[in-house]
Amino acid sequence: MHHTVTVLSAALLLTSAATTTTRAASTYDARFEQYPTYSGDDLELKVDSSGTHFRLWSPKAQEVRLNLYNTGLNGTPYETVNMTFHPENGTWTASFPKALYGKYYTFQVKYDGRWLDETPGVWAKAVGANGKRGAIIDFSLTNPADWADDKGPMTENFTDVILYEMHHRDFSMNPSSGIANKGKFLALTEEGTVSPEGEKTGIDHLKELGVTHVHILPSYDYNSVDETNLQTNTYNWGYDPQNYNAPEGSYSTNPSDPAVRIREMKEMVKALHDAGIGVVMDVVYNHTAENDGSNFELTAPGYYHRHWDDGSYSDASGCGNETASDRPQMRDFIVNSVKYWAEEYHIDGFRFDLMAIHDTETMNEVASELKKINPSIFVYGEGWTAGDSPLPAEQRALKDNVSAMKDVAVFSDDIRDAVKGHYSKAEDRGFATGKPGNEETVKIGIVAATAHPQVDYSKGNNSKSAYADSPEMIVNYVSCHDDLMLTDKLRKSMPDATDEERMAAAKLAQTIVFTSQGTPFMFAGEELFRDKKGVHNSYKSPDSINAIDWSLKARNRDQMDYYKGLIALRKAHPAFRMTSAEQIARHLVFDKIDSEKIPNLISYTLKDNANGDSWKDIKVIFNGSDEARVVKLPKGTWKAAVLDGKVDTEAGLGNFFKSVTVAPTSAAILVRE
Ligand code: CA
Repeated sequence: MHHTVTVLSAALLLTSAATTTTRAASTYDARFEQYPTYSGDDLELKVDSSGTHFRLWSPKAQEVRLNLYNTGLNGTPYETVNMTFHPENGTWTASFPKALYGKYYTFQVKYDGRWLDETPGVWAKAVGANGKRGAIIDFSLTNPADWADDKGPMTENFTDVILYEMHHRDFSMNPSSGIANKGKFLALTEEGTVSPEGEKTGIDHLKELGVTHVHILPSYDYNSVDETNLQTNTYNWGYDPQNYNAPEGSYSTNPSDPAVRIREMKEMVKALHDAGIGVVMDVVYNHTAENDGSNFELTAPGYYHRHWDDGSYSDASGCGNETASDRPQMRDFIVNSVKYWAEEYHIDGFRFDLMAIHDTETMNEVASELKKINPSIFVYGEGWTAGDSPLPAEQRALKDNVSAMKDVAVFSDDIRDAVKGHYSKAEDRGFATGKPGNEETVKIGIVAATAHPQVDYSKGNNSKSAYADSPEMIVNYVSCHDDLMLTDKLRKSMPDATDEERMAAAKLAQTIVFTSQGTPFMFAGEELFRDKKGVHNSYKSPDSINAIDWSLKARNRDQMDYYKGLIALRKAHPAFRMTSAEQIARHLVFDKIDSEKIPNLISYTLKDNANGDSWKDIKVIFNGSDEARVVKLPKGTWKAAVLDGKVDTEAGLGNFFKSVTVAPTSAAILVRE
């Protein structure tokens, strides 16, 4: 994400961290080292045969009250009780001898002689409208039919995954979606929906496209949308966390019934799983929407966030604060929270927002604990922060530290910026749009930032070293919800071109992404050449900016077919999905091209049945210049699978001997017969 500050590159941040000496890590935090911790699964609320039990962790509270309500909003408590302290683990408890299903609760903490505002705590798994009160519900009644047998796709290697990043409202709000439950979890359960022109939309579109996983923007309960007034149709990306362990109410058909959002999110997961598609949650444990008013602060003041020496909140998120994953209770919180989503909601993967605010130890624990639940679950994140942090740079889950994290991947800003131009300089062009000087950085992307004998990292624009030990540590992309999406970037950086020319550039850019080693990632609607009307930070822009116009699918059918073809090609050919750096170094050989003389041309061979591919030798050529290029071919008959803006997985686009001419701004992929 980023909605208040533009995301900085990891390289920039490392520099800033190294030169910042005035604000050392805070001694303000030292007292927290003494806090006893508690991570039992009965934290905050547990209902069992003996009744309803509350247990709040707040070791420095002077008193804690529990308020019980009949309603999720408004009114006064029907009962308030003082909770009992247990100094050995820092928790406060209260129990009732029966199941209080249908009731709501808040905690209230007295700290430094002052009663703080009410809070549902940090572990509320069900909440009333707007998430102000926890709800006591019977979770066994929230499961869809056959939920016990529900399973996501099996993923052996992360490089087999094809990620599709989407937002609930983007996907279904436009009338052209033909979807009934617009902007809701249930939108993804509707089969048979079509655009006015009869093209498939919704989940059928995802099946047609062939992506393996959807990566859905934040779906936990966030702060910015008033769930009691959904008629106003407020849009937000959702990077403003409120309750981490309950779904967002505005995506449900009834935010006032705490069970509905839970059941409907599970129905969404089930429908996607039945379609063979996995579900990745975008998680934002790095900061909270509010500072003093956050559930963390109202529960255990000062503990869960980092601060500077002067007591002020540090702000590596650029959103006002940052959390403290390096403290045991916060680390447990993150680990147990993702485990909860994996177990209760059958989530298949987690994308960590501003992951470098967290420490590598936490991320390693996250990944290893999730693998115990389901080895197919994968974890990736943004290997950067959006500001300085008291956490030492060497502990941060930065892109440059990814090799210190097992089973965690990072986004490649190398390939992103090198292919299409700088993310924040709108007019800047990249390799695919004719700007020379990006060739070596694109090659860094092609080899997934692993060590390769033919890649000179000293010429990398964003990175100067092979930071990934394995291609499974890298997510390749050219655009996402942040910054200008691809269509808008191409319109701004190619102001004199036609959309037809820009679509050719988009095809080339995505061919690089979908054939590179690592895991490919695309932003929803790029396959239809949709735009966001040039808005680069659309986090609260209306649906008129953000929602996909599905009528584009018929109009830009050729673009859709190309993306679909690229995905099919990647799925059919493991050569594009190698699993180790050694494999890549052995099987991927670049042709020697002097970029000074022939800029914007990259050509390489995937040789000797790479990664068990049925194709022995595959030639991949990217021409980002505005001139046609003739590329020599070794002896034999070469059959084209990609040429002149077309993809054919059967390689029936023509036979070539000795050389192939690659049109301006296009890719060619050929296989030797
Ligand atoms: Ca909410």
